[in-house]
Amino acid sequence: MRPQSLVQLFASVETLPGIAGRMAKALARLGIERVRDLVFHLPSGVNKYPMKSSLQSCIPGQTAAFEITVIEHIPKPSNRLPYKVVCVDSQGVPIHLIYFHAYRNTLTQQFPLNGRKLIAGTVESFMGQYQMPHPEKVWPAQRIAQWREVEPTYPLTAGISQGHTQKFVKLALDRIPTLPEWLPPVVLQSKGWTSWDESLKQIHNPTQETDVDPTFPARQRMAFDELLSHQLALSLIRKQNQLLPGHVRQATGELRTKILAECGFTLTGSQQHVLKEIGEDLSSPTRMTRLLQGDVGSGKTLVGLLAMAHVIEAGSQTALLVPTEVLAQQHYASISQTTKTAGIRTALLTGRIKGKARQKIYDELQAGEIDIIIGTHALIQDTVNFKNLGLVVIDEQHRFGVEQRAKLTQKGDHVDILVMTATPIPRTLMLTSYGDLQVSKLTEKPAGRRDIQTNVMSLQKLSEVYEGLKRVLERGEKIYWVCPLVEESEALDLAAATKRYEDLVQWYGAEIVGLVHGQMKGPDKDAAMEAFKSGSTQILVSTTVIEVGVDVPEATVIIIEHAERFGLSQLHQLRGRVGRNDLHSSCLLLYGPAWSAMTKERFQVMRQTNDGFRIAEEDLRLRGGGDVLGTKQSGLPQYHFADLFFHYGLLQEAHAIAEQILQDNPDLSGLQGEALRTLLYLYDHDRTTPLLRAAA
Ligand code: ADP
Ligand code: MG
Repeated sequence: MRPQSLVQLFASVETLPGIAGRMAKALARLGIERVRDLVFHLPSGVNKYPMKSSLQSCIPGQTAAFEITVIEHIPKPSNRLPYKVVCVDSQGVPIHLIYFHAYRNTLTQQFPLNGRKLIAGTVESFMGQYQMPHPEKVWPAQRIAQWREVEPTYPLTAGISQGHTQKFVKLALDRIPTLPEWLPPVVLQSKGWTSWDESLKQIHNPTQETDVDPTFPARQRMAFDELLSHQLALSLIRKQNQLLPGHVRQATGELRTKILAECGFTLTGSQQHVLKEIGEDLSSPTRMTRLLQGDVGSGKTLVGLLAMAHVIEAGSQTALLVPTEVLAQQHYASISQTTKTAGIRTALLTGRIKGKARQKIYDELQAGEIDIIIGTHALIQDTVNFKNLGLVVIDEQHRFGVEQRAKLTQKGDHVDILVMTATPIPRTLMLTSYGDLQVSKLTEKPAGRRDIQTNVMSLQKLSEVYEGLKRVLERGEKIYWVCPLVEESEALDLAAATKRYEDLVQWYGAEIVGLVHGQMKGPDKDAAMEAFKSGSTQILVSTTVIEVGVDVPEATVIIIEHAERFGLSQLHQLRGRVGRNDLHSSCLLLYGPAWSAMTKERFQVMRQTNDGFRIAEEDLRLRGGGDVLGTKQSGLPQYHFADLFFHYGLLQEAHAIAEQILQDNPDLSGLQGEALRTLLYLYDHDRTTPLLRAAA
């Protein structure tokens, strides 16, 4: 249950006067649905209207506020000329208020003759005459004492003005409760921060421009709260996982031997090491919650499969969750093949499998007749039930959130989890998104792999590229051709890919050129992939659907068009599609005319190294502020106040303090504990507090 103190904050914004209907919808577009969201809506800048005693002290071109007396109205002499309201300041100096679009009636009402007003806007001097086009504010002169010389401005959306937002935030601020202090006194003192409610008020009442910076103390405090709440939640989940009894899963390795014999591989040292860690987890009485990190091509799938074999041998079912249809299909094809002699029963479940076929899979899962189910999000749905789910393996995890992970593991009893990711996870992300997991790393690639040579070329030299490909084709090797990302529009991406496809067909003939893109129907997509993998297609043109995990060992060349539009890590992922055999492989980055110094530096990194970890670090360094961690791609939580570019130090401190708190007070009991629970609720981590009670 939510603490009583937060009821008002978590009420709908429609409980505030003046918010309903379209306004509520507009706010929702800004992610504002509850009163809390309004006070968490950060100002992005300030407007300054310093109060001046007279026009003489105003600086032309800058905004100011001052008192005037209305002298005369000069209506529009013609349609193209403005309406003027002639006024004088306190010294009798005249100023013209200029209106291009306004009704006479409104203006005569707003500016009665001899009336005294407080006006604000930009003062200009035009041929020795002061004027102010379209004053931004017109107030009755009596209200001068309430004037705010600096006011916050907020990010807006259609249908909602700055004035609305300011008013709503103010209304919401009036409702914020005083909450018990959750920060340890030493933290508050050493940072010199003030209370939660006071900090919020300061954030929304800036007195100078720098007050809206991420380094403003009140903002820092709010960021720290947010990070602490998240760190506490992650620690709680992790501790919970460790406390939860797991199953002791014993395996002799019989299935594993059969699988390895079938695929003909010798495990790399790194795979052996990681499998040993996993084996220990699985056979111990605690639950496994492990993250397997390994660069593209390091052989994570096989590790995942052998982990599943261990669990199957111990008598339970397993699930492999992947982010795309293409990948599910591919894993299903290879896994069902390599597990056949071992007698493992596999099945595929994706959104595409419907009707009777789907029901059959549901039934078999429930009856325990499937050992490995491979699938997409479809696996997470409530309709999917297992007889005895023992292990969930999640491939390319960065597309799944913590909640989705939990949803799948709740389908069994003491389910072990193995999360596999090719994205080298920077420490920051480790702390924020994976803080609930233990980590294994694959540090080497299967023997015989050569580095992929990377070249950079202008798109203008396209015909040379076409020419060069002939030799590759003659050798019977395969080529990925990745088309540019066009803004955020799939339709445009598709148009670009289709055009390239047609071009290539012209050059090389339709028999050997294929096309695959995100909007294709499932079976068509499969057919295109299949033709590339084992059919006649030698060049596969694609949008970025091949980014994640696809495995076609004969592919030796990847061409990435408009490579300047891709992030470094993304380029690395794409490049990892080749170099999966002992042949020489290469990657060609084609750039368009709009490339910058930064692009050059990024390409340089790509040419210099094949090491995914180094690339991830460089990516962070080069990307700078804003989307520093590639939030959108990485699954990093979206914070209200924290900006890890500025608050990374705070994140580390929050992590340490969260650990300390839970060590001293694991059940979050007593007054401090109650305050901390409030903090968890405040940032929507309430799902972890039932865990607390269960653990207590
Ligand atoms: P990723 O870590 O990118 O998911 P994959 O699991 O797709 O890598 O493996 C890359 C390629 O290496 C695949 O073709 C896979 O079959 C092969 N592979 C995996 N382990 C070994 C091994 N021990 N020896 C040889 N090839 C291997
Ligand atoms: Mg993979």
